[in-house]
Amino acid sequence: MSVEANENGTAASVAAAQYDVMIIGAGMSGMYQLHLLRKLGLSVRVFEAGTGVGGTWYWNRYPGARFDSESYSYGYSFSEELLDEWEWSEHFSAQPETLRYLNYVADKFDLNRDIQFGARVRAAIYDEAETCWELELESGERARARFLISAIGPLSAPTMPNIPGVESFQGEAFHTGLWPHEPVDFSGKRVAVIGTGATGVQTIQEVAKTVGHLTVFQRSPNYCAPLHNSPITAEEQPKIRAGYPETFARCRASHGGFIHKADHRNALEVSAEEREAFLEKLYSEPGFGIWMGNFRDMFTDEAANTAVSDFIKKKIRSRVNDPAIAEKLIPTDHGFGTRRVPLETRYYEVYNQDNVELVDLNEGAIEEITPKGLRTANGEYEFDMIIYATGFDAVTGAFDRIDIRGEGGRKLKDKWANGPRTYLGLQIEGFPNLLTLVGPHNAATFCNIPRCIEQNVEWVAELFGYIQANGITRIAATLEAEDAWTEHVYETAAELLFTKVDSWFMGINSNIPGKDRRTFLLYAGGAPAYRDRCDEVSANGYEGFALQKVAG
Ligand code: NAP
Repeated sequence: MSVEANENGTAASVAAAQYDVMIIGAGMSGMYQLHLLRKLGLSVRVFEAGTGVGGTWYWNRYPGARFDSESYSYGYSFSEELLDEWEWSEHFSAQPETLRYLNYVADKFDLNRDIQFGARVRAAIYDEAETCWELELESGERARARFLISAIGPLSAPTMPNIPGVESFQGEAFHTGLWPHEPVDFSGKRVAVIGTGATGVQTIQEVAKTVGHLTVFQRSPNYCAPLHNSPITAEEQPKIRAGYPETFARCRASHGGFIHKADHRNALEVSAEEREAFLEKLYSEPGFGIWMGNFRDMFTDEAANTAVSDFIKKKIRSRVNDPAIAEKLIPTDHGFGTRRVPLETRYYEVYNQDNVELVDLNEGAIEEITPKGLRTANGEYEFDMIIYATGFDAVTGAFDRIDIRGEGGRKLKDKWANGPRTYLGLQIEGFPNLLTLVGPHNAATFCNIPRCIEQNVEWVAELFGYIQANGITRIAATLEAEDAWTEHVYETAAELLFTKVDSWFMGINSNIPGKDRRTFLLYAGGAPAYRDRCDEVSANGYEGFALQKVAG
């Protein structure tokens, strides 16, 4: 017997394929989860909207897309063989190489045979009578399993700007998160980029290399810092290989799963000269050291943060020739690191090019996208191409786009109307047998993601081992456990300056009605503390979860 939801969320009979576990998404978390659950002998089916594996790295093919994490700290660490076989060509790999890597992993572990591609999930309905989940795909196809795992990623629901006329533009138009698979040529073209987050910055610096004329529409500037990417030399390769145990140990010990660890000093306890020298050193080094390896009080103390912000402002002014443009590129409403820091390669120098114009939307917002370009409060612009680097309905957005209904037909979207509530960011009260990898309030959403993905996936695989060994058929987070975790999430974040700033960390998205109230979507207690808590929960017989053997 299988079910479909009617208007009331109750069930009616239809035929559906049957598995032990269904996973939504074949990105890095879904792929690894499939691998581990299959090893337990479970029948697993992955449903993936794309035509290939890779998730983020499948969809985000925009020009300039690349890691901000050191390549060798980003790949999977679970297989020595894989570590031995794969060689990254750059310290911060570009998207095509990362996608090749993930396809290599899929082939190596023979993952594709259990992944259904081109399968976008429309609805996920819990069947109380049978203690199982039923998925409905957009094609109308259905499938059922006792357990459901979401592996849908925190930044996978792209959002277009809510500007009238978007559909009317006659030229080429692309959202960075839905970039075409065919090459896109910018040469000789008049191109607009809307958005200056981490994606916009990577796109702008790449497009500027070949474009005819580029116009950047910026609403909020971000503090960006140099990536300092370079090829990995033949001499470096064996050192990287030999250093894997140390690299992963460093990531494991750090707050955010990066090789960078916060400095033990406070910013103002050192002399001005010492501070300057330290910041100068961070600014000249590759990667996220400037964000993750900075003074330890940078995220909590306004004065410390101001000292670092002032240093970055000075750098921006030194790199942009026109002082008026430099000022427009400097944030005035938040401090360094309180939003995600875009890492860049000659981003600021782009604004020294004669064929690049910066339009500050604070001087006149975009009023309409027109057939030929767009109109701001200050005038008309004509373009051959518009690139929307306007971001995502972050963290909860991918959940909202699936009609997820738990016990009593209750909609997840309704439950989370005032912000997500979860237990460990891995389960939701009222939605038994659903596990959420890299979900809201999970440390993995604020992490060098693969490091925390491995923790999430391995913890869930261990749970499945326990479930098998003990004949468990139903696992449900208790309301008390969920309340306590949610409170802990907010308490841990309370002191952080980024809770006082609008960003996707805080669930703000101006393009979606109702996403204008700050609610913290991540977990800021750090990956090590999160891992310890998860381990404690499992060691104590999965405290906070009700585990049952129910017929059905
Ligand atoms: P984002 O940080 O949310 O930036 C979206 C940009 O679009 C912002 O500048 C925003 O302005 C602007 N925007 C949105 N709607 C607009 C509108 N209606 N009119 C004008 N401007 C509008 O999104 P993202 O850049 O795609 O980055 C999201 C996250 O993806 C990053 O923070 C990062 O975590 C991840 N990412 C990672 C990498 C990497 O690891 N290498 C690369 C890229 C992205 P406001 O700021 O004013 O809203």
